[in-house]
Amino acid sequence: MFLLRLQRLILQNFRNYTFLNEVFNTDLNIFVGKNAQGKTNLVEAIYLLGLGKSYRTNRDSELIKWGCDRALVNGMVIRNFGPISVEIRLDNSKKKEILLNEIPNKKIQELLGHINVVIFSPEDLELVKGSPAKRRDFLDREISQINTGYGHFINMYSRVVYQRNNLLREIPKNKKLIDSLNVWDLQLIDLGARLVKKRLEIIKKLGILSRLMHRKITNGQETLELKYISRFPVNETYSMEDIKEVYSRELSKLREKEIYRGITLLGPHRDDLGLFVNNTDIRVYGSQGQQRTTALALKLAELELMKSEVGEYPILLLDDVFSELDSTRRKFLMDVVKRVQTFVTLTSLEGLNISGIKQEYCIYRIEEGSIIRCD
Ligand code: ATP
Ligand code: MG
Repeated sequence: MFLLRLQRLILQNFRNYTFLNEVFNTDLNIFVGKNAQGKTNLVEAIYLLGLGKSYRTNRDSELIKWGCDRALVNGMVIRNFGPISVEIRLDNSKKKEILLNEIPNKKIQELLGHINVVIFSPEDLELVKGSPAKRRDFLDREISQINTGYGHFINMYSRVVYQRNNLLREIPKNKKLIDSLNVWDLQLIDLGARLVKKRLEIIKKLGILSRLMHRKITNGQETLELKYISRFPVNETYSMEDIKEVYSRELSKLREKEIYRGITLLGPHRDDLGLFVNNTDIRVYGSQGQQRTTALALKLAELELMKSEVGEYPILLLDDVFSELDSTRRKFLMDVVKRVQTFVTLTSLEGLNISGIKQEYCIYRIEEGSIIRCD
């Protein structure tokens, strides 16, 4: 089987967990608990091992148990390429530390791609109806997990946008500075074009997979289409040089406006992922059910894409999603779960048709930051 398996998870002073040391022997792990017991916190810890940062907050200090100075998350993962241990040490007084196979001082860039995870939670509805930033984030996180190096370009690009914005705001006060704008433009176009090119490639693949998923969920009734939406015209047939050319041309047209507004108006930081169902913009006009189906199709496509790009399935985290889905979508999701190691959280087992599960599974009860295995 080509899949990642989280075999052991250790938590120390992470969120509401004082200490946890659990070995997972099955691929389907079900966590049941009332509200505010630590279900999402557990899922967040596994996510942290994969991406080096939380999806709920940008402030690492929030992850440390209240009243404590330090926290630790450690995971042992079995993969096709051999086992790997990841440890994240959080400290209120210094930057977080990442260890890979006990080797310290690793950067997030080095961590990415070792433990791939896909998470599906109720907030993922925001992926469809929320702001473009949510969809850009989705694309960027997906690409960073399968393409080491992409995250580095994102950081560099963001820095260029930041510096360029500062310069744009200074120009009205000091007209001579306009000459240095050309230097920043070259960097913006070079880095921006790389990001756009990669996003176009991924959207093409993700588009095929999510359309398939979507058709299955809707019994062939609806067709999902993904489109990259940019303020300069590009499509997946464009080479890097083509992208640079249109980017540069359109950017130069905006120069006066950019100086007036003091911000960079063109580039991947302003783009969006368009989602169309039967040619209707689902971001704006979709019903709740259609938006949920689209979010589910995107997430499952993400899973399949990782498998095809890196050769093994990622870990799937399903936080509190079953209660939101109807029986068709639930059944569909349970079929997917058979192929990957999955961590499911629920407030009640009623949301899951336990007797219908054919694979081995393990149920845990979560109470006030501790988990108890129910055999
Ligand atoms: P729900 O079913 O409502 O989603 P949950 O089981 O997913 O609940 P969590 O989000 O995991 O709940 O949070 C569990 C508890 O952990 C909450 O009461 C929250 O206030 C608490 N908590 C969050 N951060 C910290 C922290 N840094 N230190 C201690 N406790 C925390
Ligand atoms: Mg929760």
